Parts: sequence; structure tokens; C-alpha cells
Amino acid sequence: MEKWREKYDVIIVGCGVAGLFTALHLPKEYQVLMICKSSLSDCNSMLAQGGISVCLGKEDNMLYFEDTLRAGQNACNPASVAVMIHESQAIIQELIDLGVNFDRNPDGSLHYTKEGAHSVARICHYQDITGKKMTEVLQDKVKKRRNITLFEYTTMIDLQIKANTCVGIVVRLQDGTLHTVQSSKTVLATGGIGGLYEHSTNFSNLTGDSLSLAKKYHIELADMACVQIHPTTFYTEEKGRRFLITESARGEGALLYNTDKERFVNELLPRDQVTQAIFAEMKKTCRPHVWLSFEKVSKEKIKTHFPNIYAHCLSKGYDLTQEMIPVVPAQHYFMGGIAVDLNGQTSMASLYAVGETSCNGVHGKNRLASNSLLESLVFAKRAAQQITSVQKKKERVI
Ligand SMILES: Cc1cc2nc3c(=O)[nH]c(=O)nc-3n(C[C@H](O)[C@H](O)[C@H](O)COP(=O)(O)OP(=O)(O)OC[C@H]3O[C@@H](n4cnc5c(N)ncnc54)[C@H](O)[C@@H]3O)c2cc1C
Repeated sequence: MEKWREKYDVIIVGCGVAGLFTALHLPKEYQVLMICKSSLSDCNSMLAQGGISVCLGKEDNMLYFEDTLRAGQNACNPASVAVMIHESQAIIQELIDLGVNFDRNPDGSLHYTKEGAHSVARICHYQDITGKKMTEVLQDKVKKRRNITLFEYTTMIDLQIKANTCVGIVVRLQDGTLHTVQSSKTVLATGGIGGLYEHSTNFSNLTGDSLSLAKKYHIELADMACVQIHPTTFYTEEKGRRFLITESARGEGALLYNTDKERFVNELLPRDQVTQAIFAEMKKTCRPHVWLSFEKVSKEKIKTHFPNIYAHCLSKGYDLTQEMIPVVPAQHYFMGGIAVDLNGQTSMASLYAVGETSCNGVHGKNRLASNSLLESLVFAKRAAQQITSVQKKKERVI
């Protein structure tokens, strides 16, 4: 095992897309430590199915802005939304340049899919495993960077604070030993809170650890009541993480039915409204789930656009091309988090937060589908740029 340094320029806690993208945008001469709680692949970023939104051009600017604000129930921070949309095309191009080969049309143009509450198809995707593809490409790049040290199975259990400034963290290694490690800047990228719920699509290791520490040290939090429930996860009596049936399934034509095979909701309404309709139907029919039918989606599309979902359902005894599948809502995403400005800065000096654990107000009360991967990357990059610009040479450790 690589030896710990006493001090790093930057410590990044969390190895999902937000942490990885931050690391890749820091100067190569910085000594960077990245840690994650369990294996590198146990992060929500690996699970994202639907894709990553992008603004289609000038004509889409206002429409995309309005879609995001409407889904967020007009509680979004307009400045954050504007930044995210403005920087979206550059982020997608950067991902392509890094090696993320999004699905394309026969003419070579990017294939966009549509999800609930988007007015137009504007979501880039790689089959139905967009998050896995993106995360693996970023992991690969990070592993090749000699200035980045990465430790798996290493848990941040505390922050080190001096005069309201974050000066490092305390970690617990897999063998149970505790270490303190100092940093000039610390970035919290610890993801969501699904591990605290009985039914969630999230990895169970994601338990909002940064939020507890923020509370402990009076670091500002925001929108803590804003938790998104995903309307359609595969219903099973088995314990564990719920398997998500992406929003784009409904975007591509999948329909919701009750036990009498009647439709009861417009499937393309925002998530919270679809969820409420499903809960109401479950209550009315006293059943633990409703049904999702792919009868309007061609068999070819099911197998090419949703191969992962098709395979999962098949493994559970349901053939999507032939029959309906049972679905139930589950905790999915946390819109709130550690309050940050447009550059990821928290209310504590030298402490930044990016990705799902942060809250810059992009999502308001309800995240628009496929905005979170984009938000994570846009603001991770900005945080890295901010750190670079404020990190005076004398503060550097090498
Ligand atoms: C099933 C599913 C499907 C989704 N589909 C989409 C989609 O199609 N489009 C979209 O935009 N978004 C989607 N999302 C949301 C999106 O995947 C996440 O919001 C995003 O990936 C969050 O990235 P992150 O880097 O903030 O967190 P994560 O990728 O979850 O990474 C968190 C990291 O923090 C580490 N960590 C946590 N606590 C500690 C600690 N105490 N010490 C050390 N390390 C710690 C973890 O080990 C992990 O490495 C989906 C989410 C789920 C669950």
C-alpha cells in the first residue's frame, strides 16, 4: 500500500463523477488524495442509466431553463441553472474527448433521448449504462495521473477544523486504524443519502456522512427536506438496493397501468407527480406495486436502448418484450445538501462540496431527470478552477 503523506494540496472525499472530475481539473503538479468508503465502483455514478442532459443550442436555452425551473417547482437558484445550461455543451464535448462514446444516429450525430418533464429530447446517453461508461472513463484517467493517490475502503469520519478553516480530515482505514491527514483544501464529494432509507435506488454505503459533519461544525446546509423519490423501480420482495427503471423508458413510450390494466397518470409528468399518482393507486388497490408496460416500445428498441434493464428483468423472470413488470417508487436523489456558491465553496474556509452532497440550488424542490450528472461535472470543474486560482504558491505543500 502506498504510504500516506502528512499533507496534500487537495483531499477529495468520494470517487464518483463529482470527485473524479474535480481531481482531473486540478493542476498536475498538485498532490491530490482521493478516498472512497468502499470499492471504487460502489458509487451512484456507476448506476446512472438515463443519461446526461445538454442544451441543444441557443434555441433550447430558455426551454431547458424553464423545464428545470418547472420541475424544481420554481425553487431553483436561477443563477446556478443558467451556469449549468451555459456550460453543458462544453462538458459533453470534454467527455467525448476523454473517450465517452455516447450513442449516435446513423448520420453520426449524437442520439438524444427524452425523459419526464423535458420538453424535447436533449439527453445524451450510452445505451442505458451512461453513468458506468462515464465513471469508468474518468476513473481510468485518474488512475493514470501520477499526482493523484487513491485509497479505497477508506472512510472520512471527521474534519479537522482550526479557526473555522478546514485543514484536513480524519479517516478510518479498512483495518480499523485511524489517521489524520492535512490538506490546504478539502473537497467533499460523498454523494447522496439513500443508505439511510429502507427502500432506495442508492448504494447503501451512501449515508450522508458529509452532512452530519457539516451539522457538527455549523457549516451551512440547504434544502434538507428535498428528497426525490423515483416513481419506477423494479418491485421485489428481496432486500437491498432497488433496481431503477429509467425515466427514459416512459420517455420512449412505456406506460403505467394499475392492477385492472387501466392507465391512471400521464407518464411524462415530473417525477413527484407520477410518484404521488402511483402511491394513490397502490393505496386504492391495496397492492405493493403498479405495472409498467413496454408494449408501445419496439422489441428492437427495448434490446438496443434498454439492454441492461431488459437483462435485469429477464433475470427476475420478466420478459419486457412480452409482459408488464411490477414497479414501485423508492428514494432516489437528494436535492439538498451542503450549501455552496457557484464555485463549490462552502460556508467554511478551505472546504468545498461538489456533486450530490452539495446544494447550489440547481434542482430546487425536484430534480429534472438527467440534470444531476451534468450538475456534478459543471460545478466540480468550477470548484477545481476556483481552488487552483486561490491556492497561493506559498500554501502549496510541494
Ligand atoms: C439508480 C440511479 C440512476 C441514476 N440515473 C441518473 C441519470 O440517468 N442521470 C443523471 O443525471 N443522474 C442519475 N442519477 C443520479 C446520479 O447518478 C448521482 O446524482 C451522481 O452520480 C452523484 O455523483 P457523486 O459523485 O456526487 O456521488 P457518488 O457517485 O454517489 O459518489 C459518492 C462517493 O463518496 C464516497 N463516500 C461517501 N461517504 C464517504 C466517506 N465518509 N468517506 C469516504 N468516502 C465516502 C463513496 O464511496 C463514493 O465514492 C442516478 C442515481 C441512481 C441511484
